Amino acid sequence: MRIALIADIHSNLEALEAVLWDVERRGPVDAWWCLGDIVGYGPDPAACLRRVRELEARCIAGNHDWGAVGKVALTEFNRAAAEACRWNGEHLGAGERAFLADLPLTVENGIFTLAHGSPRDPIWEYLLSPEQAQDCLALLRTPHGLVGHSHLPLWFGLPEGGGALSYGSLNEEAPLRLSGGRFILNPGSVGQPRDGDPRAAYAIYDSDANAVTGYRVEYDIAAVQAKVVAAGLPATLAQRLSMGW
Ligand code: ZN
Repeated sequence: MRIALIADIHSNLEALEAVLWDVERRGPVDAWWCLGDIVGYGPDPAACLRRVRELEARCIAGNHDWGAVGKVALTEFNRAAAEACRWNGEHLGAGERAFLADLPLTVENGIFTLAHGSPRDPIWEYLLSPEQAQDCLALLRTPHGLVGHSHLPLWFGLPEGGGALSYGSLNEEAPLRLSGGRFILNPGSVGQPRDGDPRAAYAIYDSDANAVTGYRVEYDIAAVQAKVVAAGLPATLAQRLSMGW
């Protein structure tokens, strides 16, 4: 079984379409899992949500998804993020808002638990250290965890029988084998990467290989930046896309 893992699309339709195309050219997948933040920041919330729903992706709630529909207070966000979150919410229909509001915080799917931020704080925690990963793995009822939120393609591993935690970046050159321990990983962000590489990020889990591979794909950043500006969204949200931050 092959499962495409996407996260933090953030209303970036061009990046999402590039990822869909890239997944397709690598061969069929059996399922799509989306780790939160379909909307927020970018200029195409309704179109991105429509595409994700067409994929019948298994989705969980992100802070921006709930911010856009008033389930999380916008005062919790920085100014540009709050402004974009409000704009995103205003550009969704009632059915789309209900879809976001009804998303679960966590989902257990086979050997994985899905949470946007972290399993212990699905809305807000940025999972960035091996110590956090260890604490979170202790909470899981599944062997492995999948998260988004930090927009960084990362993995953390806890070896079987104890020992030092390992971690690394998720990439195409060295697929992460899910053997010999427990892992928690982030496929990176489709629509607003923050690791200095502006290309859209996603990953594919292959159950035969028992491995997760991270991929990057170029998309038309200038087109999205023009839409951000045309929508009257904060200019920093356009600029950061070409810096991968
Ligand atoms: Zn996000």
